[in-house]
Amino acid sequence: MTAALRRVLIVGASIAGLSAARALRRAGYDGEVILLGAESEPPYKRPPLSKDVLTGAAGPGSVQLRRGDDLDLDLRLGQRATGLDLAAREVALAGGARVGFDGLVIATGAAPVHPWRDRRLPGVHTLRTLADALALRAGLADARRLVVIGAGFVGAEVASVARQQGLDVTMVELLRSPHATALGHKVGAAAAALHRDHGTHLRLGARVGGLAGTSRVTGVVLDTGEVIPADLVLVGIGAAPATGWLDDSGVALASGVVCDSACAVRDTDGAVIDRVVAAGDAARWYHPLFGADLRVEHWDNAAAQGKAAALRLLGETRPYAPVPYFWTDQYDSKLQFAGLAHPGNEVTITEGSLATRSFVAAYGRGGVTVGAAVMNMPHRMAAYHRLIGAGAAFPPEPPPPATAPVAPKASVLRKGSS
Ligand code: FAD
Repeated sequence: MTAALRRVLIVGASIAGLSAARALRRAGYDGEVILLGAESEPPYKRPPLSKDVLTGAAGPGSVQLRRGDDLDLDLRLGQRATGLDLAAREVALAGGARVGFDGLVIATGAAPVHPWRDRRLPGVHTLRTLADALALRAGLADARRLVVIGAGFVGAEVASVARQQGLDVTMVELLRSPHATALGHKVGAAAAALHRDHGTHLRLGARVGGLAGTSRVTGVVLDTGEVIPADLVLVGIGAAPATGWLDDSGVALASGVVCDSACAVRDTDGAVIDRVVAAGDAARWYHPLFGADLRVEHWDNAAAQGKAAALRLLGETRPYAPVPYFWTDQYDSKLQFAGLAHPGNEVTITEGSLATRSFVAAYGRGGVTVGAAVMNMPHRMAAYHRLIGAGAAFPPEPPPPATAPVAPKASVLRKGSS
């Protein structure tokens, strides 16, 4: 089967797609690699968009992902896939062209959820692309009052940058603490305190009903009728997998492209589709360590899963079973998380304290340590990451420092390396 693989088409020219291309070449694949992307920008890093790009510390040129000529890529930018014909093994593009493939990597990521997009109200932003970040940066320069809808990581990072630029900032969140879905309320409360101490107003447990303004946004309307004044709004209520182009293709979709444990895509009957794989924010796969189907929106996962998906195209069938990891930088704090948090987890502080905002919180489920949140103790992350991968009992003894770098890569633990 591998011998017949002469043309791999990768749809989605970002970290998962580029990582798949790199893995194919490193494994010795010498056929054609087409990397197709809807954006006109060459592949770039997204994490700095809500951090250094927004502050102006990083310019557009400095966030580009290194490609290297040795990849011998056929990079096709500004081309959006609109459909997939599995029988013909072709992808349809906007404009009518079709591109055939032997192997296909689906790496189209996710797009912001924005219930009020149709109003096209000036002053209202989402943040996913470099163009979004530059537009928001320009908006911040002229604005006085920012309302961030949604206290997820992207929203909280934007709030922190805006506060540091002197704007009056309000963050509105439906749940009772920031990051509650990802981290639970105990660590969420520490994040809330961080924001309050920096002067960001928090409206927790509040539901947004709409936006005020006609020629430009003037406020955010809560479902109580209250209007929070704003001349700039960020809608940061999450992202949905960018899989619309796969509707009716025969690919199984369930809030993401449904894959087996080794990134092979399933059809709507549950069968694995020959040499079609998926990776990154768009993919949902069975994770044996957690015994669940997961879709993970983290940078490190997209990079590692792109590699795993490419190797699957080359015949590798080992399950892809990483311990998920992400980080967020807000104000002067770094918050990292490894593993998987469930609403029912037990959470205990194993090192440091919430009050000093320097701590490790371990997450347990069924007597097993399944996650760890680390605030401002980045040197402790690798050891807890290892412990979660080993399925350690909960509550865990604080582990000894890791002697050698383990995933997550040491590079991602350094601020600004993203
Ligand atoms: P994406 O990066 O979303 O790339 C998908 C690409 O596919 C896009 O370029 C898109 O234009 C293209 N595409 C979509 N549809 C089509 C189509 N039909 N045809 C052709 N191309 C298409 N993670 C962390 O772990 N830590 C962080 O601090 C962090 N910060 C972040 C800050 C921001 C502002 C954002 C937006 C994300 C952040 N993330 C962070 C998440 C991380 O960036 C994502 O998990 C990662 O980018 C996912 O990579 P991907 O390649 O799967 O998808």
